[in-house]
Amino acid sequence: MKIAVLPGDGIGTEIVAEAVKVLDALDLNLEMESALVGGAAFDAHGHPLPESTLKLAKESDAILFGAVGDWKYDKLDRPLRPEQAILGLRKALGLFANFRPAICYEQLVNASSLKPELVAGLDILIIRELTGDIYFGQPRGKRTAVDGHFPGAEEAFDTMRYSKPEIERIARVAFEAARKRNKKVTSVDKANVLETFQFWKDVVTEVHKDYPDVELQHMYVDNAAMQLVKAPKSFDVIVTGNMFGDILSDEASMLTGSIGMLPSASLNDKKQGLYEPSHGSAPDIAGKGVANPLATILSAAMMLRFSLNQEEAANRIETAVKKVLAQGLRTPDIFSEGTTKVSTREMGDAVVKALG
Ligand code: NAD
Repeated sequence: MKIAVLPGDGIGTEIVAEAVKVLDALDLNLEMESALVGGAAFDAHGHPLPESTLKLAKESDAILFGAVGDWKYDKLDRPLRPEQAILGLRKALGLFANFRPAICYEQLVNASSLKPELVAGLDILIIRELTGDIYFGQPRGKRTAVDGHFPGAEEAFDTMRYSKPEIERIARVAFEAARKRNKKVTSVDKANVLETFQFWKDVVTEVHKDYPDVELQHMYVDNAAMQLVKAPKSFDVIVTGNMFGDILSDEASMLTGSIGMLPSASLNDKKQGLYEPSHGSAPDIAGKGVANPLATILSAAMMLRFSLNQEEAANRIETAVKKVLAQGLRTPDIFSEGTTKVSTREMGDAVVKALG
């Protein structure tokens, strides 16, 4: 089991160090190799995703990624900016399935913008298709309108499209993930208006025949956006296209109240994956030892579950995180009266200790 460890920039190095510490403590015989990525790689090699880093990523079963970016790189040409490293890795490895769990820990329930009773115990998983849809569909661009409401006017356009195999593979990922959870998939579409999403709905329904043990529900995206704030606990796994998933996963993440707690995973059809916290490199707090490492530690748990088939070890990490929260340990971002403020490193140490 080989892991490419790519800490990146800003708090990336601090939080990944804690996740590596936790992985080491599990004694799983993992081979971990580090490489530069993002701004750090640009500074050393002139490119945010050097060939050597890409090679390591391709050879590994999984990538543990910190975060990339800093305002000092904002003036670089777009292809050289740190964030391009993530897009490069997604493309090179064909990472088409993005997993974003939204879990609201009992102890952090007051950090949510919703009423505690709506989010206490929330545990949903949003699976977003990551390489298709209107974000990548061709043709796109600007032109002079030949029809529509204003023929002759300047207009811009994009193309929404999904092929059958693209929908089939993301649907399978969702049904299989649901099998390991509460066996319910909500497929989110806009079949009432869009051809692409009528097709999406039909294909998901067809794939569902292979998963009779999993309940399938279809929901229009506008209703899903509403239900996520009305009754978020009614969902288990949500599967949707790239654009709807982009929006709904951010909406769902806010239900949990804290960006420092949210892991994510992006997988390909060989179950190779890139695992990273949902937040960025937080240059404002980098180097201060105050960043919350839990999103990265929880990303490492997802890595064990989805790419390395180590369900038990993944559960051990997740249970340990719950334990440290129950002990009242908090990095400053989740601190509240009556709890104990700890540093990034102390939080990592506490998780290691709680592994038991
Ligand atoms: P950010 O997520 O880095 O930070 C937003 C706010 O949340 C900041 O106040 C930060 O201090 C806080 N925060 C984030 N993670 C935290 C943690 N683990 N613990 C405690 N507080 C935390 O977003 P931003 O400030 O908009 O972007 C900063 C840089 O990160 C930019 O260069 C951006 O392009 C990059 N970025 C990278 C990724 C990625 O690597 N996947 C994602 C988003 C943004």
